[in-house]
Amino acid sequence: MEFLKVTLEIMRSKAIFVLIFSFLLVAAPEAGARTYSESAHGIVSEAPQSAPEISYKVSMSNPSTHLIEMEMTVRSENLPKLTELKMAVWTPGSYLVREYARHVQDFSVVSGSKKLTWQKINKNTWQIDTGGAKSLTVRYNVYANDLTVRTNELNDQHLFFTPAALMMYPKGQLSAPSTVEIDPYGNWRVGTGLPAVSGKQNTYRAPNYDILFDSPFEVSDFTEKTFTVEGKKHRFVMSGPGNYDLDRIAADTTKIIEQAYKIFGELPYDDYTFIVNMRGGGGLEHLNSTALQWMRFGFQDPYYARFLGLIAHEYFHLFNVKRIRPDALGPFDYENENYTKLLWVAEGGTSYFDPLIRMRAGLINDKSLLSGEASIIESLYGQPGRFQTSLEEASFDAWIKYYRTDENQVNNQISYYDKGEVVNFLLDIMIRSESKGEKSLDDVMRYLYNEHFKKGRNYTPADYQKTAEMMAGKSLDDFFAKYVRGREEVDYDSILGRIGLKLVASRPESDKGYLGANFSRSGGLTIGSIPKGTPAWDAGLNADDEIIAIDGYKASKQFFDAYLAQKKEGDKLKISVFRHEELRQFDVTLGRTPAGGYAIRPVDDPTEEQSKLYQGLFGTALK
Ligand SMILES: [Zn+2]
Repeated sequence: MEFLKVTLEIMRSKAIFVLIFSFLLVAAPEAGARTYSESAHGIVSEAPQSAPEISYKVSMSNPSTHLIEMEMTVRSENLPKLTELKMAVWTPGSYLVREYARHVQDFSVVSGSKKLTWQKINKNTWQIDTGGAKSLTVRYNVYANDLTVRTNELNDQHLFFTPAALMMYPKGQLSAPSTVEIDPYGNWRVGTGLPAVSGKQNTYRAPNYDILFDSPFEVSDFTEKTFTVEGKKHRFVMSGPGNYDLDRIAADTTKIIEQAYKIFGELPYDDYTFIVNMRGGGGLEHLNSTALQWMRFGFQDPYYARFLGLIAHEYFHLFNVKRIRPDALGPFDYENENYTKLLWVAEGGTSYFDPLIRMRAGLINDKSLLSGEASIIESLYGQPGRFQTSLEEASFDAWIKYYRTDENQVNNQISYYDKGEVVNFLLDIMIRSESKGEKSLDDVMRYLYNEHFKKGRNYTPADYQKTAEMMAGKSLDDFFAKYVRGREEVDYDSILGRIGLKLVASRPESDKGYLGANFSRSGGLTIGSIPKGTPAWDAGLNADDEIIAIDGYKASKQFFDAYLAQKKEGDKLKISVFRHEELRQFDVTLGRTPAGGYAIRPVDDPTEEQSKLYQGLFGTALK
């Protein structure tokens, strides 16, 4: 997930912003003997005998400088004469190369009292001449003034850090264990999902780097609440003041966790930590924790329901993507992009289960879930990009597109969160109707969990289709070819009809005059984007054009809307804009206003089968 973007994904309402491995070694008792290997999907035994001993000390003596003081010690009988230390360039769950090394400064290295020489050999690698020493200690500072769920922030209020953005690792040693000691500022305490080392204050142990990098830390004078679900300890770490009611949050989160438990039959961790920072919106999933950000005063209605959506989304990820792992997502390559065509399942599928488990938990109703799907469908109808990019293509190109959107995205992209959610919803309906209500997408998730994750295997696009077909009891190749691998317009009604639903537009297409430009969010008349084929596109208007007059009248947004409202299809307008500081005028011929206000409603006179399938999915009668 990305932040604003990511929140959008998850809160999408569909209006905010949004954003997972084998066993949680550190948590699952049986996982103790397992760890990631360097091989494609395998799980092998503990770190090799030759693994170096690695420890970190994280200090923050002067928080207002935003400088995190790092000390890293590496000991090994086999320390290479030229030892290379690396910084990750990205962190799992947020698919963008972020170049964390750019915040490193004040680097120095010693062995005992002897200063060693070093040089950088590429953007994220420090090469150290050990001169044959068996240990070295590196010190460096990391500038941390960027609060997101995949970066670091240190100030006089707190420290939040993402280990991949802070801790160097020795080349080729990602399976090595390490110890992290935190030296908190003042009265600050430590919140993290990484297990503590008993008998040592503020000291934690990771069995390998996939676990270390998966464990964010919050260090501050936070408020916390612990509660137990299915015998497992859960904890909220709330950093900073806000209008939250932790009793209510814990009670509602318990209901969400119980619904996920019902799907998988177990909670595969010893404990789970929710870290919440009170700014922005969005989250990042981890094996036994999640880092969240939410508006400080956004914990009461009507915002609260969306906060629970964020919790359900990031929590469900502990199964879908952290353990049910797409082909390329873990073990991870921290220096390069990790390509997968499956983000439409990892993110889109999670975005579907998020409202689904909240509905089963009684936190929202069927109408609310359906209205969320309808709003995504409406938004897709406004994106010609749906004919340019398939779900698999959108997933694969996340690294260069999803996290780097521009004014052309409306014409060349779709979101694998949004379309992925709708297509997983439709896939659930297909499975339910083909199996006569016997199977569902729950069975697909459960199968992948038991037959892939538990057997140490990631899954491929073919595995997902095969599993869905196994549950449906028939080929779904047509569905996958058109809507997953292909870019065809989705025939919503033919699938929704199977459970007695149909897509309806409360505002039918009309001859009201239509321009088709999307305005930027600032609220003025600056064009944000122009979908291909609209009258604005045909007239040559551009993104960033600032409309200042229409037919010779000075135009405010209010004036513009009122003026357009009295126009019909075929009417001509003269639109004056500032473009790159020049006054320009464009002749526009208005088009027909397309249908809008989509909702998903019951069909007239549903059959018994439709009613039964609806009841099966929504747990309530079709009406
Ligand atoms: Zn997500």
